Amino acid sequence: FLIGLLGALWLLGSGHGEQQPPETAAQRCFCQVSGYLDDCTCDVETIDRFNNYRLFPRLQKLLESDYFRYYKVNLKRPCPFWNDISQCGRRDCAVKPCQSDEVPVGIKSASYKYSEEANNLIEECEQAERLGAVDESLSEETQKAVLQWTKHDDSSDNFCEADDIQSPDAEYVDLLLNPERYTGYKGPDAWKIWNVIYEENCFKPQTIKRPLNPLASGQGKSEENTFYSWLEGLCVEKRAFYRLISGLHASINVHLSARYLLQETWLEKKWGHNITEFQQRFDGILTEGEGPRRLKNLYFLYLIELRALSKVLPFFERPDFQLFTGNKIQDEENKMLLLEILHEIKSFPLHFDENSFFAGDKKEAHKLKEDFRLHFRNISRIMDCVGCFKCRLWGKLQTQGLGTALKILFSEKLIANMPESGPSYEFHLTRQEIVSLFNAFGRISTSVKELENFRNLLQNIH
Ligand code: FAD
Repeated sequence: FLIGLLGALWLLGSGHGEQQPPETAAQRCFCQVSGYLDDCTCDVETIDRFNNYRLFPRLQKLLESDYFRYYKVNLKRPCPFWNDISQCGRRDCAVKPCQSDEVPVGIKSASYKYSEEANNLIEECEQAERLGAVDESLSEETQKAVLQWTKHDDSSDNFCEADDIQSPDAEYVDLLLNPERYTGYKGPDAWKIWNVIYEENCFKPQTIKRPLNPLASGQGKSEENTFYSWLEGLCVEKRAFYRLISGLHASINVHLSARYLLQETWLEKKWGHNITEFQQRFDGILTEGEGPRRLKNLYFLYLIELRALSKVLPFFERPDFQLFTGNKIQDEENKMLLLEILHEIKSFPLHFDENSFFAGDKKEAHKLKEDFRLHFRNISRIMDCVGCFKCRLWGKLQTQGLGTALKILFSEKLIANMPESGPSYEFHLTRQEIVSLFNAFGRISTSVKELENFRNLLQNIH
């Protein structure tokens, strides 16, 4: 109806009653989502081809493996910013945690990951959970490195406030059984979260209004112009920060439109693409140009995570690194698949150049990086205020994944000690970080693939 109404308004507005609106629905969503991305040398079409045909299918396979499907998360952490979180109570917001016997012992128990000798040092090695996994037959040299890692405090590198996974409230969740999709979480509660994120954590002064903000009244074209001239005036890092968050927001909204609750009977629920929902969020006319801009931000986020994965390849190439679940054959196959994916990613010709970030005057760059890190950490804490558990789960996972990507891109240890040529034993990632990094990228990769599906579905609609 809305689309028809718009078409009619266009005809009236144009003053040429006999003309037809010039574009298809697909063009209205996607015509600006092509060509080069701002602040990058990469274009949308190259990403589409690379992702949809070369990466997406293999990544999906990897994410179905035991190592990647079980994510430990504390969904009961209190919101640190306000008290009145109303739990939405919707059935589609529920998260079903794993029973203790569902999760492979190799994933649950840190002690299974090490040799007997290393187990004797379990006190010191307890935190070696951080490592992701270490081979059972560690060489002496590697064992020393393990202890060095475990003693090392990397909090200054972290862009996220990670859950304490030792807490009794932290539980394993099977991500395949709790997929990200439409939950019905919407309205003022959801807006409040997005609003706090954009208004208080994206370097934006209060006087600059976000276009179409549902919690601000009396907005018009002039606010939009002020907003974009403010954004363009920002330094590249702060602009990137906004675009990453907006890209994440767009990705979440693509998913809920692609896995929408289409039909419900007492026997079953039918999930699928809701074209109207997608158009309302991304159609250039319906969103006064905002939708296509948001989709471009999604591609920007894709590029950032892609670059982080290419950069961290040497960490995963270390011979002692395993995707440890306790099933030796499966673990080896998974590692092969993981390396295949990472090599494919490394071969991508138009990687984002992170060296343009935090460059220039050392003191200023340091301060800017610290601000960037603290703002992002704050956003990871806001996820504990999301009133729908399913949205909270995926919100936490995706912010942790993006935070891990930023840690990889900007860690001094990685820069100093892990040139592309060789592995470093100072830089490390926990299993939580590894699982969230790949799953978060899997979400963005799925969004890019879904955009192709929506483009096809919208092709013949006016
Ligand atoms: P919203 O998406 O709530 O956006 C609010 C306002 O922000 C918009 O009016 C617009 O002005 C602006 N905006 C919208 N998109 C962008 C963008 N990409 N960039 C910049 N500005 C933008 N719902 C589900 O069904 N399933 C989920 O898994 C899910 N996960 C969520 C996770 C989090 C962390 C949050 C906060 C919400 C989640 N939601 C989820 C809710 C969903 O994101 C929307 O908030 C909800 O569908 C209402 O949408 P809306 O059209 O009112 O605008």
